[in-house]
Amino acid sequence: MSSAVPATRALFDTAPYEREFSAQVVGLGALGIALDQTLFYPVGGGQPCDLGHFVLPDGSLVEVLGVQRDPQDRSTIWHQLGEGVDALAIGLQLRGKIDWERRYQHMRMHTCLHLLCSLIDAPVTGCSIAVDKARLDFDLPESTLERDSLTLQLNELVERQLEVRARFIGEDDDQAIRSMSRTLIAPPAFAGAVRLIDIAGLDIQPCGGTHVSNTREIGQVLCERIEKKSRHNRRVTLRFA
Ligand SMILES: [Zn+2]
Repeated sequence: MSSAVPATRALFDTAPYEREFSAQVVGLGALGIALDQTLFYPVGGGQPCDLGHFVLPDGSLVEVLGVQRDPQDRSTIWHQLGEGVDALAIGLQLRGKIDWERRYQHMRMHTCLHLLCSLIDAPVTGCSIAVDKARLDFDLPESTLERDSLTLQLNELVERQLEVRARFIGEDDDQAIRSMSRTLIAPPAFAGAVRLIDIAGLDIQPCGGTHVSNTREIGQVLCERIEKKSRHNRRVTLRFA
């Protein structure tokens, strides 16, 4: 029963630059295994999950094929595994290692979407992040957006080397959260505290995704496409230059 599995400590929230960790198996179920803590980011808010592998005490490797939050209890994170899971049992200690190249690309691109939000004053209606590109959908009836101008402005913000800070506020502070949720990218996943991402005051919003700590790490980017998806919907696609 997944509901009896303890909450997973989300190490990717507090240590987004770590690549390896130790953990204990606390749950086995249809969705895979749950651990007491994990660095593996679960799919959510337009950001794909981390991939990687576990090293078991006997030295054998098990591939992590997918990571997701429990649909009923969002505080539990499940790791979907490849072959070689027979030896797994509750209480087993293992090492985890995430595919860092993939995660770091997601961190860079995700942070860049926050910069895009700071440049476009419209509600966000959709978000999708991949390893080499990302897109946001804006509720914007009149499009005054230009590719070259957005590319220029984004790269200016990258070059300003702005600090990206995360802080937690109580979820009771509803009004404050609502006022900042205009451009919600990856909503905080579960109750308790809400994580705010603040890029030098230019973009402040609740977000449960992973970010780089300074905009210079994003590197050069390109606004690849601006599409009209419907009367109100403008889709902006970014790519690493
Ligand atoms: Zn974010």
